[in-house]
Amino acid sequence: MTMREASARAADVVVVGGGPAGSTAAASLAAQGLRVILLEQSRYESARFGEVLSPRVVPLLESLGVMRQFLAEGQLPSPGMVSVWGGLKDERPSLLNPYGDGWHVDRARFDNMLARAATNAGVTLYTGVRFKGVVRNAAGSGLTVAFSTENCAHTLHVRFLIDATGRSAKLARRLGARQERIDRLVTVVAVGETRTGADPRMLIEAAERGWWYSATLHSGRTVFAYLTDADLVPRAHAVSHSSVFDVALRSAPHTFARACGVPMSTPRVTSAASTRLVTPVGTDWLAVGDAAAAFDPLSAHGVPRAINSGLYAAQVVAAYLSEARPDNKQALVEEYGRQCDSNWSAYLGERQRAYGSEKRWPDSVFWQRRRSLTSNAAMMEGP
Ligand SMILES: Cc1cc2nc3c(=O)[nH]c(=O)nc-3n(C[C@H](O)[C@H](O)[C@H](O)COP(=O)(O)OP(=O)(O)OC[C@H]3O[C@@H](n4cnc5c(N)ncnc54)[C@H](O)[C@@H]3O)c2cc1C
Repeated sequence: MTMREASARAADVVVVGGGPAGSTAAASLAAQGLRVILLEQSRYESARFGEVLSPRVVPLLESLGVMRQFLAEGQLPSPGMVSVWGGLKDERPSLLNPYGDGWHVDRARFDNMLARAATNAGVTLYTGVRFKGVVRNAAGSGLTVAFSTENCAHTLHVRFLIDATGRSAKLARRLGARQERIDRLVTVVAVGETRTGADPRMLIEAAERGWWYSATLHSGRTVFAYLTDADLVPRAHAVSHSSVFDVALRSAPHTFARACGVPMSTPRVTSAASTRLVTPVGTDWLAVGDAAAAFDPLSAHGVPRAINSGLYAAQVVAAYLSEARPDNKQALVEEYGRQCDSNWSAYLGERQRAYGSEKRWPDSVFWQRRRSLTSNAAMMEGP
């Protein structure tokens, strides 16, 4: 089939990536009267990670005006969390949280709901897109973005670009930004039946060469995820991921009790590394959410943080576009960079405290790596 050339369009802002950060940034910019185009590669049809939302998400959904749709979609209130970490079992009912319940959500539906909210705010959304490239305009202002949908090629001339492509930070890296990665954490994940009478709370459990989380999904099934370092997972052709999964389960007795005898899907391996862009902002572009900095899933606030990041970025971009003086624009860019740096430093401290509180397995390379932050922080190029 030959590719049809669609007419070139102009917009104030293009947001690439319709996850929580991108949709929120797009909606907030459109609400300020800017012409915004949101490009999403999927059609929100397949399963996504990040099923358990902390109660912090509630005031954010209220401020975005989507709480009613969220509740109408029948997302499940989370009955609390159990952690087995540092040899201690800790049970946290959501009653203790001032925002009430956390939520177990269908992430594809949740992300689709936020994208629809963006279109209600005036954003033009394209799904099923293939991003082709981005170049700076010769005149020195704005960028030209090329993408395709089905058999149609599109060109966009924009004043500003937001990279919201998640951990890949594809656009920012295309624009020359460097990504650093401080670990090689991966998740080996499978979905199984939920045993009758099983505890519905999320369970986090430390193990000798990593840690586990398991949680009931919106579908009623249970996700089992093992987090470890990529080099501690043997290559697929040598030992199957299923056997890695089974061996690791035996070092986590509470998770094992949930999973034992449960029929499971074949485990998949994906990156869960902590990454960030050394420079998350430049002339006429910035990165938001996981594209700017992706945290260890142990931090448990990925989605609320992505929404907050989208809201903050929208303020910065609106101010940048209404500013005529280059030195004022530069000051906004620098402030955004400083804010991202300070969030990253706070995260590194939290990460070290969380992993440092598990003192069992002194000989385990996984735990040794996390106890010595300085050696972890040695710069590695991103994926
Ligand atoms: C294993 C694991 C478990 C997690 N569990 C939780 C959890 O329980 N709770 C929680 O709050 N957080 C969790 N997180 C973190 C959370 O999922 C992320 O922090 C959050 O999704 C970041 O949102 P985002 O919008 O920045 O990026 P993403 O959610 O990654 O969204 C990026 C979007 O960009 C699109 N995209 C990518 N490339 C392109 C392209 N080239 N062109 C167009 N579109 C593109 C993608 O399809 C996607 O829609 C988890 C993360 C991992 C790895």
